[in-house]
Amino acid sequence: MRVLVVEDERRMADLLRTGLTEEGHSVAVASTGPDGLALAEAEDFDVIVLDVLLPGLDGYDVARRLRRTGNQTPVLMLTARDATADIVTGLDAGADDYLVKPFAFDVLLARLRAISRRGPVAQGVCLVIGDLSLDPAAHQVRRAGELLTLTRTEYNLLEFLMRRAGTVVPRRTLIEGVWGHEREIEDNTLDVFVRLLRQKVGAGDGPGLIHTVRGVGYVLRAEPER
Ligand code: CA
Repeated sequence: MRVLVVEDERRMADLLRTGLTEEGHSVAVASTGPDGLALAEAEDFDVIVLDVLLPGLDGYDVARRLRRTGNQTPVLMLTARDATADIVTGLDAGADDYLVKPFAFDVLLARLRAISRRGPVAQGVCLVIGDLSLDPAAHQVRRAGELLTLTRTEYNLLEFLMRRAGTVVPRRTLIEGVWGHEREIEDNTLDVFVRLLRQKVGAGDGPGLIHTVRGVGYVLRAEPER
């Protein structure tokens, strides 16, 4: 894989460069937010490892600007903070996953593998549930005709639920289906993504579609939440 590491701490950047190179990846390193953004825009990477606290532009801003310009390269955010609000800010800015420092290198590798996996090959007809439609070929989601902007992970999560609409999908199945490595996913990551997805999919006057089944998982169906 071609990996872009955006990290200003010299020791951490060296560690990532060495470790990822040893694993056979090609690594580029940027040490400021603006440099990282410029590199990400200039070259094609399979995945970006993005620190939050950076000089110039922080990781949130870098992720936001990338997504705003249509760049969908998977982003793994590195954060020294573990407050839920910061994690949500990162995911909402367009990160696909996050790791709290300090982390084990093996966990980083597993996360990178998981988020860089391509989703299921898009084919066939649109999935339609109520006024929500997902076009796998165009990678587009609409609610009541209005185009929604979803991150890659949000899209994958929604597609997984839509393909099983009306069926309760257990948490573990959902995590495996979307991230691949259930044990590498933080406990509340699924819930954070479902919350973000609900906000976006629920934007409009229509009823909520993603229902929580307590203690089991989630189900997508076209009836109002009770
Ligand atoms: Ca930093």
